[in-house]
Amino acid sequence: MSLSESRKAELAEKVAAGERLTRQDGEDLYESDDAAWLGGLAHGVRTAKNGDAVYFNVNRHLNLTNVCSASCAYCSFERKPGQQDAYTMRVEEAVEKALAMKDEGLTELHIVNGLHPTLPWKYYPRVLRELKAALPQVALKAFTATEVHWFEQISGLPATEILDELIDAGLESLTGGGAEIFDWEIRKQIVDHKTHWEDWSRIHRLAHEKGLRTPATMLYGHIEEPRHRVDHVLRLRELQDETGGFQVFIPLRFHNDNNRLSHLPMAQPIDVLRTFAVSRLMLDNFPHIKVFWVMHGLSTSQLALSWGADDMDGSVVEYKITHDADGYGTPDKLTRDDLLTLIRDAGFRPVERNTRYDVLRTYDGPVPLAERRAEPQDVWT
Ligand code: SF4
Repeated sequence: MSLSESRKAELAEKVAAGERLTRQDGEDLYESDDAAWLGGLAHGVRTAKNGDAVYFNVNRHLNLTNVCSASCAYCSFERKPGQQDAYTMRVEEAVEKALAMKDEGLTELHIVNGLHPTLPWKYYPRVLRELKAALPQVALKAFTATEVHWFEQISGLPATEILDELIDAGLESLTGGGAEIFDWEIRKQIVDHKTHWEDWSRIHRLAHEKGLRTPATMLYGHIEEPRHRVDHVLRLRELQDETGGFQVFIPLRFHNDNNRLSHLPMAQPIDVLRTFAVSRLMLDNFPHIKVFWVMHGLSTSQLALSWGADDMDGSVVEYKITHDADGYGTPDKLTRDDLLTLIRDAGFRPVERNTRYDVLRTYDGPVPLAERRAEPQDVWT
């Protein structure tokens, strides 16, 4: 279905005036089949907020264990205790692995894990302490709100004490996962753990009160409908009005390989772009929208930069959660140079940031074609 020209004009006027969009506006934007128009609106907002910059950081992912008490329908990562490829790292192993990943310019470790049924709560702050001691310059972005809620359950401690101890051990930011889709009718069919909107928002609110800045995600393209995506971002927008603690929104495309939803088709690139654009337009109080190229593929990620995204996840050497699910030829790592080329080829200026979005280094923007012709071109497959 397409939107009438008068409705499109009305929405464009609201966006131009910086007026906040309503739930109905968001649902109508998803109805539009005019992708160029929608992308243009989102690009205008993205440009007003972030110019022609595309932020990235040089990070590595560390998954301490893939053993999980839950069995979420979309998950390709979790294993049960004793399963052939189940693993759990000893603290020393985690440090060894992190040290092996250390190379020039690493600024962040991104740590997410299964909800291990028997690991004691004290294991987690101990890992952070040891990692911080081994890599003092590296920011530790660790644990989803779901994991923090799990730590409450296994320790009997309230989240405020859990977060205090993790911050004392070196935690700089929570990760944005565990959000999936907040709408209960959808959530109850796909999420198997006990953390839903009430606890997810409680824990992020608390983290913001303690001075942490956090990301928020949305897993889309499975059984939800566009109205559930709109509902999801509206809840986040309201929480952001209250705390101001979210730095970035990260739409994550569901992958249908090796999980209980493998029968579903995946979101097509045009739906990906629509989701980025509507998210950018609805989340007027979020400074950044990130495209995580591991889940979207390189070409679609480049396009997403013109449909509202202004941040690309950095050089990922190891990212087991999605790499296990990926059968589409997306590489599992990019070097800094790969990333610079990717951003410039999409027409933007790369800016390296740290976990808190402080600018570490700015780079030149795209090189004009006439200058590039003399050079051999990279080929992205
Ligand atoms: S999504 Fe997280 S909580 Fe759910 S099964 Fe996978 S690892 Fe466990």
